[in-house]
Amino acid sequence: LSTWSAVPAGPPDPILGITEAFKADKDPRRINLGVGAYRDEDGKPYVLNAVKKAEEKISAAKLDKEYLPITGLPGFTSNAAKLAYGAASVPRNQNAIAVTQSISGTGALRIGGAFLARHYPHSKTIYVPSPTWGNHIPLFKDSGLEVKYYRYFDKKTVGLDFEGLKEDLQNAPEGSIVLLHACAHNPTGVDPTQSQWKDISDIVAEKKLFPFFDMAYQGFASGSTDRDAFAVRYFVSQGHQIALSQSFAKNMGLYGERVGAFSLTTANEEERKRVDSQLKIIVRPMYSNPPLHGAHIANTILSDPELYQEWEGEVKGMADRIINMRERLYQLLSNDFRTPGEWSHVKSQIGMFSFTGLNKEQCKVLAEKAHIYMTMDGRISMAGLNGRNIEYFAKSVDAAVR
Ligand code: PLP
Repeated sequence: LSTWSAVPAGPPDPILGITEAFKADKDPRRINLGVGAYRDEDGKPYVLNAVKKAEEKISAAKLDKEYLPITGLPGFTSNAAKLAYGAASVPRNQNAIAVTQSISGTGALRIGGAFLARHYPHSKTIYVPSPTWGNHIPLFKDSGLEVKYYRYFDKKTVGLDFEGLKEDLQNAPEGSIVLLHACAHNPTGVDPTQSQWKDISDIVAEKKLFPFFDMAYQGFASGSTDRDAFAVRYFVSQGHQIALSQSFAKNMGLYGERVGAFSLTTANEEERKRVDSQLKIIVRPMYSNPPLHGAHIANTILSDPELYQEWEGEVKGMADRIINMRERLYQLLSNDFRTPGEWSHVKSQIGMFSFTGLNKEQCKVLAEKAHIYMTMDGRISMAGLNGRNIEYFAKSVDAAVR
């Protein structure tokens, strides 16, 4: 008998399953709207020019391959914190932000979950929005936290259920942890307004909740890294201590390089040093120290004014292309085809994804009849649409909902 004979087969990953179905479909009209990775106007993966130039500089510098410190490349972590918190951030200027490089956003969330499970002195329950990025749930459970939900999305309005959100945060036990998507909420594409963020900040203060921000899309939502950091910077300005996960997968297109950072704001430099020492104790037995190349790329871009400027233009270019696709899709559905239903949410949603409001049956019809692949919750990756396929997509949606 094999040692593993009792191991049950687990369910396939829902997103990767879509990519497989897409690959197996040989119809020339096929469209993959499942995966959350940027595609250019030709539907191709896109390597940023700023990244190519950074790699040339790194290659010319003939760097060695020595290990990084446990918490990563110091220049990178410092620049990542500057990007998120802003140059004028008070805790940053007091040397009071503990930050470690991480295996992209996922790794940052995992370090954060582990740190909170071990050192957060209050509740071990984290409230996540319903719905949220699917991986949040097993990730926080595996880190040792209990996961509960707060209301977020209103199916009727295809928008934010702000009353439900406030009520659920108000009713959460004092000291609970709350996960907030800093911008470009995945999977809904629905973000709180700046005024709603202020109300959320007030409730978090009143109920002594601990805010953990997941910022996987800084710059990718609005095209401006400053604007997308509003919630994080506002909370810090209000005196909240926060945890923050950052990813450079989307905004630098560094998906497979796995570049990210996890940080905590602390009271002062002395406290920051103690927190740093405990971050090292969490990281060391997990993977010892993080990979080198991606951190060098991100750091080269963040520390070279010319490359930084080029990068900012490219982030804006990606965000703008997606915003244009939203506008075009809205026009096609609502004006050209007069598709039944209300479609303005396609325009008002932000970031990589749109929750279309299509139901499971309609999604199935789109896959089987139109060769269009998306998750069964009706979420589409806007980046998969382009000038050549958007009309076909809109026409197929129109047929599916009639
Ligand atoms: N958080 C959210 C909300 C995401 O959508 C993603 C990626 O899809 C991540 C975190 C983590 O991505 P990565 O680990 O590739 O940085």
